[in-house]
Amino acid sequence: MPTKARAAILYAFHEPFRIEEIELADPKEGEVLVEMHSCGICHSDISMIDGSVPEGGLPIVLGHEGAGVVRALGPGVKSLQIGDHVLPMPMAECGQCESCRSRKSNFCDNGMQSLFGNVAMDGTIRATVGGRPLHQMCGVGAFSTHTVVHEAKVAKIDSGAPMEGACLVSCAVSTGVGAVIYDAKVPPGATVAVFGLGAIGLNIVQGARLAGAKTIIGLDRIADREGPGRALGLTHFVQVGPGVDAVEEIRKISPGGVEFAFDAVGGSAVARQALSSTRIGCGLAVLIGVPDGADLNVSYYDIIMGRRLMGSMLGGVHPLADAPRLVELERAGKLNFDTLITHRLPFERINEGIELLRAGKAIRTVLSF
Ligand SMILES: [Zn+2]
Ligand SMILES: [Zn+2]
Repeated sequence: MPTKARAAILYAFHEPFRIEEIELADPKEGEVLVEMHSCGICHSDISMIDGSVPEGGLPIVLGHEGAGVVRALGPGVKSLQIGDHVLPMPMAECGQCESCRSRKSNFCDNGMQSLFGNVAMDGTIRATVGGRPLHQMCGVGAFSTHTVVHEAKVAKIDSGAPMEGACLVSCAVSTGVGAVIYDAKVPPGATVAVFGLGAIGLNIVQGARLAGAKTIIGLDRIADREGPGRALGLTHFVQVGPGVDAVEEIRKISPGGVEFAFDAVGGSAVARQALSSTRIGCGLAVLIGVPDGADLNVSYYDIIMGRRLMGSMLGGVHPLADAPRLVELERAGKLNFDTLITHRLPFERINEGIELLRAGKAIRTVLSF
């Protein structure tokens, strides 16, 4: 029998969500029904509200940073049981494809359609509202009391881990900490600059601290980000704004530039600054922020001089294997989730949570169901 759930639905771009009853199909082969416990609100959700959803993607249930409990199993599920505490992840780990069997990439070949098409792993739809098909962001749609997800996208975590913090591993923590550890492979003693100290940037900061970086420079327009930044490992803070040359400021602190620069803002202008702020011969700029639609415009000279540029998605994290490890690193005191959670709201007040993030007031608002 289909499950009735309550979900925040985006019917049109730039509009608030409408919370309505939806129907979820029974889990199919390899799928599970997850009851959501907590969910963070991410800038990618706002990018979707503002119109980056692929054509044909509306109406849609957004949300991709949830934690919950498995309530039902479809046929053939091997890795999960009813009652398991889990993170439904935006990216998949099928365990079979070339990417999943190596550490070369975390782009599971079998998960791409679900990630970018906002559909289930088999390319079809699991949710309806009043009989109308509903897309689910990244095939998850976590802004909902329940969702149906393939087990290849569901990471099992220890049942003792508080889900309010653990949900952040589904996106922000994996994206930030993972980018440092798995993609950039920052070594001990490194010099690091982080552009943008939102939830992703702050996780880059704590990832860099965990990796043993000696200099961690954070840049943000918002002066209030210095406090949480320092709590998570920043050694220097630069407030950017009109008249401030970010590259110059970084070179004052780290002569010759930094070895690693992370762009957690997005957009060509910041990407260009991130690359230019790295050292010649060995600098690596890692692009993580959501693009602004413009083509990348970096200095040819910067590249010729031995600087490198790479992109990172979900921090190179293999969702099923690595996400539970990141949850455990917090419980061991090596990562910190509490500093990231600035606001808590009941699910029904999700539209307020969106506005808090838009206004730069929240680092993370966590919704409880
Ligand atoms: Zn996200
Ligand atoms: Zn795979």
